[in-house]
Amino acid sequence: AGTGKFFVGGNWKANGNKESVSKLVKELNDAKLEEDVDVVVAPPYIYLDSVLNTLTKRIEVSAQNSWVGKGGAFTGEISAEQLKDLGVQWVILGHSERRHVIGETNEFIGKKSAYALNNGLKVIACIGELLEEREAGKTTQVCFEQLKAYADAVPGWKDIVIAYEPVWAIGTGKVASPQQAQEVHAEIRKWLADNVSAEASSQTRIIYGGSVNAANSAELATQEDIDGFLVGGASLKGPDFATIVNSVT
Ligand code: PEP
Repeated sequence: AGTGKFFVGGNWKANGNKESVSKLVKELNDAKLEEDVDVVVAPPYIYLDSVLNTLTKRIEVSAQNSWVGKGGAFTGEISAEQLKDLGVQWVILGHSERRHVIGETNEFIGKKSAYALNNGLKVIACIGELLEEREAGKTTQVCFEQLKAYADAVPGWKDIVIAYEPVWAIGTGKVASPQQAQEVHAEIRKWLADNVSAEASSQTRIIYGGSVNAANSAELATQEDIDGFLVGGASLKGPDFATIVNSVT
């Protein structure tokens, strides 16, 4: 099992408007959150500044993406320097929607992670297999290739949280069973020990994502190598997200 603090992230994706975002911020400000948990939310870019200015400092703020290098003539992109300037602490990289809908490659995601880390952001580094890859018995192979692309690029692992998110479980309501998740988390931890260091293996948080909700988080949290969650849909409701945070064991 890992030695890191329990970590729960909320990925708001491209959801919400000014009104619903301020309602969610109010719910989160009012929520009672267990102390021993790192809590992070990732609003859409356009709401980052207002969330940073209104959300309790108890919760840290993440972007959902960042540009692969120094800012400049890259229409529509946001640079790591700009995120730092705003006060953003984290960035989600390698999310399956960016891999499989937008077409980002392992190598590009590795480069983005290195750039973000070198510019003072912490990274929620996502990995995970497609349904057909799981059915073909390729789950660990795919996850290890994705991990290697991060490992080949990043300067170190102390500011990285790994999110294992099987693609078939994201936004589908089909959650991995606690055993299925634990099995892959243990493989990831072993991969870190074999390919990075004993320290990275024990200290890196490995969180699970894929249809986590207020009703299933407690059981998932009992698994030895599950160090927290990355939550999509259920992070849009403050009380449900607080329940997930408080499922720390
Ligand atoms: C996610 O996109 O990171 C995610 C886990 O989504 P959901 O919780 O909605 O499956």
